[in-house]
Amino acid sequence: MRRTVVRLRATPRFLCQNKKSPLSASDTNYDKEVAVLPPVLIVEDDTKLARIVKAYLEGADFRTVHASTVTEALQKAEAEMPLAVVLDLGLPDGSGEELCQSLKELGDFPVIMLTAKSSEEERIAGFALGADDYMVKPASPRELVCRLKAVLKRYERSSFSSESLLSFNGGALVFDNLRHQIARDSLVLSITPTEFKLLLTLASSPGRTFTRDELVSRALGYQFEGYDRSIDAHIKNLRQKIETDPRTPEYLKTVYGVGYLFTGERDAL
Ligand code: CA
Repeated sequence: MRRTVVRLRATPRFLCQNKKSPLSASDTNYDKEVAVLPPVLIVEDDTKLARIVKAYLEGADFRTVHASTVTEALQKAEAEMPLAVVLDLGLPDGSGEELCQSLKELGDFPVIMLTAKSSEEERIAGFALGADDYMVKPASPRELVCRLKAVLKRYERSSFSSESLLSFNGGALVFDNLRHQIARDSLVLSITPTEFKLLLTLASSPGRTFTRDELVSRALGYQFEGYDRSIDAHIKNLRQKIETDPRTPEYLKTVYGVGYLFTGERDAL
């Protein structure tokens, strides 16, 4: 039974549960859920342009939030953990370039820079700062939507794979991405490839809630679309392996009616 995805235009950002649906026997164990994906953050001080970008993105079924200053962008990014950021570089209270770096430190989301600057040097500087794509104004909103989708696809594939070791909570949980192993308190866990991918996906964005659909497509692959409840079984197994007390998990939290999030704290290398 696929869940209905309803995108909301306003807070609260992750919602919600309807009453139990009497649709089918296989569905009766669960509350029917309405899951909402994280929004795309539009950082743009030109309100007219921001409105146009917003309309196009929402037309392509993305949710959006808007910020017109560096300060506001950081606040909203922290609160929403966006799917991606469309970032104008000319902002009234600071540099978009620095904001790009701060955003990259805050979370693992792709950034598309949108700017009046068009020289090759400036574009290269943008990429050096971690921009995933770069568009020169006046940019076509339709092209922006296409580029955003492309960036998200690329991101899903490559997310995290470049780093060989990831460590959380003072070394209590360590991912070895080359060997596909996870160690808890220095002991290598017996873990399946699916469990590894699932946990790695969650740990790639600590604090960000993933819907079951997202986890299915990232950890199981698209051929398992619709099997979103199998995620619950994998999470249960993972908790047995990585949590001190699986009933009060320290790493893998349930967000009721939505999905799961990883709450380990990444160690500085
Ligand atoms: Ca501007």
